[in-house]
Amino acid sequence: IEEVRPVLRARGVSVQFGGVKALTDVSLSVRPGEICGLIGPNGAGKSTFLNAATRLVNYATGSIMLDGQPLEGVETREMIGKGVARTFQNLGIYASMTVLENVMLGAHHRLGGNFAKAIFAPFRARVLERSTRERAMAVLEEVGMANLAARAAGSLPYPLQKRMEIARALAAEPKILLLDEPAGGLTHGEVHEFGALVDGIRRRHNLCILLIEHHMGLVMSLCDRIVVFHLGRNLAEGTPAEIKSNDAVIAAYLGR
Ligand code: ADP
Ligand code: MG
Repeated sequence: IEEVRPVLRARGVSVQFGGVKALTDVSLSVRPGEICGLIGPNGAGKSTFLNAATRLVNYATGSIMLDGQPLEGVETREMIGKGVARTFQNLGIYASMTVLENVMLGAHHRLGGNFAKAIFAPFRARVLERSTRERAMAVLEEVGMANLAARAAGSLPYPLQKRMEIARALAAEPKILLLDEPAGGLTHGEVHEFGALVDGIRRRHNLCILLIEHHMGLVMSLCDRIVVFHLGRNLAEGTPAEIKSNDAVIAAYLGR
């Protein structure tokens, strides 16, 4: 039986940094409309997978397909135009720029994720267009940050910087959103609210999400399906209930 074609499909992907095998033969698919969790202990290769999927690192073997098209030969700055938007585990924001300007960078498709170029090229002429600004403001409103639009991004508390990164990713109107530990630094109370935000984004924007997250409560409540990496390999895959009771997963988190 032919399944629905995944938006993102990686097969047999291996990534090596010098002598370190960060990923060995991993496979992962994200299907239309779903929130797919990617979990695993520190060093499991989760961020490296996002970097491979956005062409920031090269993979030695395997293939990654977007909507059935191979990504080989596609450059990182082209990924946003292909509908792939992401956030970074370690913030990828412009601290001295305002929140609005950061989000406008995402709204401006043609920049293709090349932020440096955006800054050094005739910035105002290219970026400060009304439609870009309007789209950025709409997204800031959606994530509850419209009142912070004029603030310097670097002056925000860390969780709000992470949220701004999501707004910037959304402003590009992607078909898939890759989130690397977006709830970092949130209190337990804030995590619940954040989960509702991500779920709302998925529904309103008709996109799919690959969510790397350490807050297990959040992952279990939000994800339709969860993929587990351990030591750079696929360890398990299943529904939240299946993953919660998977002995290999439990052992990996306990360090055995
Ligand atoms: P995770 O996000 O699951 O915590 P990472 O993908 O960051 O794991 O890292 C996987 C492995 O690859 C780790 O051993 C890490 O030290 C290594 N690694 C990641 N990025 C690099 C890099 N740029 N150069 C060398 N080693 C790296
Ligand atoms: Mg990581």
